[in-house]
Amino acid sequence: MPMKPLIDAGTIAARVAELGRTITNDFLGKDLVIVPVLKGSYVFAADLVRHIELDVEIDFLGVRSYGDQEESSGVVQITTDLSSSIEGKHVILVEDIVDTGLTVSYLYENLVTRQPASLKLASLLHKPARTRVPVEIDYLGFTVEDVFIVGYGLDYAQKFRNLPYLAVLTDEGA
Ligand code: 5GP
Repeated sequence: MPMKPLIDAGTIAARVAELGRTITNDFLGKDLVIVPVLKGSYVFAADLVRHIELDVEIDFLGVRSYGDQEESSGVVQITTDLSSSIEGKHVILVEDIVDTGLTVSYLYENLVTRQPASLKLASLLHKPARTRVPVEIDYLGFTVEDVFIVGYGLDYAQKFRNLPYLAVLTDEGA
């Protein structure tokens, strides 16, 4: 599958460290629950939490989005739910990419009903050109063009999550 490097590992590491420092400062003295959305955000979340110098709990949400690989339908099913209550806790939902915004706005609405003390959103990537539901991203890594991205946790047909950098799938040669 032809691909073109987009953001190298060093640039990602520097930005993720910066986000971790910002989160640390924003939540000083508070307990925090980090909620990565599986599977795409697992690499980002694993790096991010190592730059947060607070007592953090990590709990995962597994989701399935109906629709084909490259098009979000907006119909989201929670396949793995949180293992404990977030009531009264400070929570950061961690996504790999906000594309149309449908997935994250569904998850946000769902988590808000559980009455956390606060609910913020971190996303490694944002593709504003495809917004269907405007979403406020509190901790954003990078804004990207309307291209299909793989690597650093993001897949194409479950492959390429292990690339240490971000790349764009191209149809050159197809
Ligand atoms: P949304 O509901 O915001 O349209 O889509 C969010 C989900 O679609 C992401 O969590 C991700 O799983 C998938 N997605 C959207 N854009 C891309 C992309 O460029 N590359 C990959 N690998 N997944 C994407």
